[in-house]
Amino acid sequence: MSIFTKIISREIPSEIVYEQDNLIVIKDIKPIAKTHLLIIPKKEISTINDLQENDRELMSDMIFVAKKIAKDLKIENAYELHFNVWDLQEVKHIHMHLLSNI
Ligand code: AMP
Repeated sequence: MSIFTKIISREIPSEIVYEQDNLIVIKDIKPIAKTHLLIIPKKEISTINDLQENDRELMSDMIFVAKKIAKDLKIENAYELHFNVWDLQEVKHIHMHLLSNI
């Protein structure tokens, strides 16, 4: 079980900023920008390389949630979305970083 699955099931505390049926958004514990959020599917998929055809809607939802949160936080004019993959990835449970310094 990944650390993010434990956060989703409330076994480990975290600062949850948004949640819907298929994903959760939390504050990164070691922020590298003024806003540093993690958009995490509840489905535990290890990496981008493990995505299946039926994950398309989930991945799309991640982007649309990022867009909504960026607007809510008024950072929509300057933010970055990124995925680390495998060797660059500390937590092997897909997540998208949302970063902004405005
Ligand atoms: P990555 O290198 O893309 O796997 O990044 C994993 C991110 O998860 C890092 O930015 C960590 O700071 C963050 N992280 C790890 N554990 C936690 C946690 N318990 N709560 C919030 N963020 C975490």
